[in-house]
Amino acid sequence: MANKILVTGGAGYIGSHTSIVLQEAGFEVHIIDNLSNSDAAVMDRIAEITGKIPGFTQLDLCNSEDLHAFFDKHPDIAGVIHFAAHKSVNESSTYPLKYYHNNLTGTINLLQAMQRANCHNLVFSSSCTVYGQPDQLPVSEDAPLKKAFSPYGNTKRMCEEIIHDQAEADSLQAVALRYFNPIGAHHSARIGELPVGIPNNLVPYLTQTAAGKRDSLKVFGQDYDTHDGTGIRDYIHVVDLAEAHLKAISRLLEQKNKEAFEVFNLGTGTGYSVLDIIKTFEKVSGVRVTHEITDRRAGDIEKVWADPAKANRELGWKARFGLDDMLRSAWAWEQSLASRNDS
Ligand code: UDP
Repeated sequence: MANKILVTGGAGYIGSHTSIVLQEAGFEVHIIDNLSNSDAAVMDRIAEITGKIPGFTQLDLCNSEDLHAFFDKHPDIAGVIHFAAHKSVNESSTYPLKYYHNNLTGTINLLQAMQRANCHNLVFSSSCTVYGQPDQLPVSEDAPLKKAFSPYGNTKRMCEEIIHDQAEADSLQAVALRYFNPIGAHHSARIGELPVGIPNNLVPYLTQTAAGKRDSLKVFGQDYDTHDGTGIRDYIHVVDLAEAHLKAISRLLEQKNKEAFEVFNLGTGTGYSVLDIIKTFEKVSGVRVTHEITDRRAGDIEKVWADPAKANRELGWKARFGLDDMLRSAWAWEQSLASRNDS
């Protein structure tokens, strides 16, 4: 079976972990990335972990000529896993056009290039943000999609719709994976999340606070209708997420998909509050996290967690790692960054 996989945005957080899992499963990986929010040194880290350096081309998906030339040069690509996108919720509210332009144009150009190159298998990196605050929990794939709270979230829903329409109209076979809250890092602590500037997300902010880079973690609101008043999310280990991508692309290559466009929720099925995260982090790291309760953050939903039954059943995938593992690996990664900066 043809086994070369193109990973767009493969130098990023989830893309790099997925590239490792693909290489370990015997796939040949070629990464394209514009390096707008990542570093080419990730290729060396992937090589250290897997013993093999992935193919790499620095390329912006918004440049369709370069993309066509890329596919002409690599006619043997069996499938594509598409991560490349801008991903900051906050920034997207300040610069909506930057987000709509980059994320939609990149996806449309990719679909056109795949069509032209007769490449039919696509896994798309989507998000549970497409559900907004769901009416029922846990949230399953048939829950209605709602207008997202941010332009970023809207781009995920719109890209899903574009891919769905193309799969109905043409020979494209596609899987959209709706992630809940990815955290943690590879157990080697050689790769992980590299937030630029002040992190927006809870876990990078928390580990930076524990490491002394930030003074205090703000807990956004303690008046939600949850067991301790703080917001609840379904956190998932990034390596579990990476393994789901392997399952999804394999399902397409083996033609086991049941529809031309399928969606799967990727979560553990268990929700944890912000205070649960802080307590568990303190337990596994032995480090106290200075924190304070502040007002709610605009646009945050109260609580969400996944019903991952469809992914369990159809993809044969189940999250393996619990919260302790996720936070331990996030802390090991933060410490490895600190030791690199010291040296
Ligand atoms: N959160 C927080 N302090 C922070 C960052 C996040 O209390 O500095 C809370 C946020 O309100 C939400 C949860 O942590 O309840 C997860 O937020 P994150 O930004 O990581 O992911 P989201 O689900 O909002 O995309």
